Amino acid sequence: MKFSCTSSYQDDQSKDANEDLDHANALSLVEDAKKPNAPGYRGQGIDDDELAKAIQESLSMPSYQPYQPVQFLPRGYRICGGCHHEIGYGHYLSCMGTFWHPQCFRCYACGQLIRETEFSLSGTYPYHKSCYKELHHPKCDVCHEFIPTNRAGLIEYRAHPFWGQKYCPSHEHDHTPRCCSCERMESRNTRYIYLGEGRSLCLECLESAIMDAGDCQPLYHSIRDYYEGMNMRIDQQIPMLLVERQALNEAMEGEKYGHHHMPETRGLCLSEEQTVSSIHKRPRIGGNKILDMRTHPQKLIRRCEVTAILVLYGLPRLLTGSILAHELMHGWLRLKGYRDLSPEVEEGICQVLSHMWLESEIMPGSTSVPSSSSYAPSSSSAMPSSKKAAKSDTEKKLGEFFMHQIAHDTSTAYGEGFRAANAAVNKYGLRRTLDHIHFTGAFPV
Ligand SMILES: [Zn+2]
Ligand SMILES: [Zn+2]
Ligand SMILES: [Zn+2]
Ligand SMILES: [Zn+2]
Ligand SMILES: [Zn+2]
Repeated sequence: MKFSCTSSYQDDQSKDANEDLDHANALSLVEDAKKPNAPGYRGQGIDDDELAKAIQESLSMPSYQPYQPVQFLPRGYRICGGCHHEIGYGHYLSCMGTFWHPQCFRCYACGQLIRETEFSLSGTYPYHKSCYKELHHPKCDVCHEFIPTNRAGLIEYRAHPFWGQKYCPSHEHDHTPRCCSCERMESRNTRYIYLGEGRSLCLECLESAIMDAGDCQPLYHSIRDYYEGMNMRIDQQIPMLLVERQALNEAMEGEKYGHHHMPETRGLCLSEEQTVSSIHKRPRIGGNKILDMRTHPQKLIRRCEVTAILVLYGLPRLLTGSILAHELMHGWLRLKGYRDLSPEVEEGICQVLSHMWLESEIMPGSTSVPSSSSYAPSSSSAMPSSKKAAKSDTEKKLGEFFMHQIAHDTSTAYGEGFRAANAAVNKYGLRRTLDHIHFTGAFPV
């Protein structure tokens, strides 16, 4: 707890005056603590009741010690809060029941003497006000300034629930780019890449971004192998296209049956014959934006229930893969004759496959499917362990974030659906859960 305290030099020879001074100091402390700018912290979404409580707590000062008149202390029994030796008959300083030799009244952070009349005290440790602020006042991860206090005098900031990135609330409205993949805000000392269509990508996500069909095909094949490894082989050759946002939205409108989708659609499993503009050649990146995007119209021919799987370009490999795993599950359900599932059941089970694939990528050796299930991954289709081990910590952390996003989604279809589907799969295994869905259209409970 921090508060400012006024100090004044005192001399033990004139204790009547001391008593008044000490009393004055104690009063000024209480006054200071009641100032509206007493520190307090406020996270996102705290309501007014909690806000009021936060103010109360910031004023309650747990380190406060009641004023003790100087004359009750036996002469010579004051211990210096700095060197812990007895203070004799010379000058001393006192604040909140702690005493110091003048030469021991030093900032706990920088070790320099405190000469200012206002300082900060934490427990019994004094600090220069500026040193205390440097140590304890949160800084914004976007503009790198101290996070300002709001009108109620509290430090108010936004913090990302996964990354913990803290920033001034103002950056939500000042056009600070936010990464379309990992949701982190662009800090003032980095430059994100602008992908066009309102999407920005951070440099960590760019590192493994899938930018053309050549990058994406091997990934698509490895996910089909993953399905095969769980005895969910898809025999039909379903084309996979990497597309821009606009092409994805147009394709979505071209489908006869409405799709339930997230506010931001990143993948699609098509059933209609359509012409889709897809990306073939990796675009060049110049400055901090995408140059010469080359697309190519592709006519989809119906050979089976599923005409194509589309995925948004420019996302990191693990996110692209999790989208493909999700869309491929839609394809699998359609090809295996699962009909008219509720959005919660269909999206929920597709998210389970997406989550399982991510887990298999970032936690080599783990299987999220109980071994009793015949849909357990077989070792023959597992990727070579060396390839998995080569994943950087940055990429692993991203994968954990995508799993966190799936698990904590607040929407009914994707979030509630995933949690219900995941509970069923954990209890009954994937095969029995899917069989139950086939016969009843619902998750087993
Ligand atoms: Zn001392
Ligand atoms: Zn200092
Ligand atoms: Zn800021
Ligand atoms: Zn990112
Ligand atoms: Zn879906």
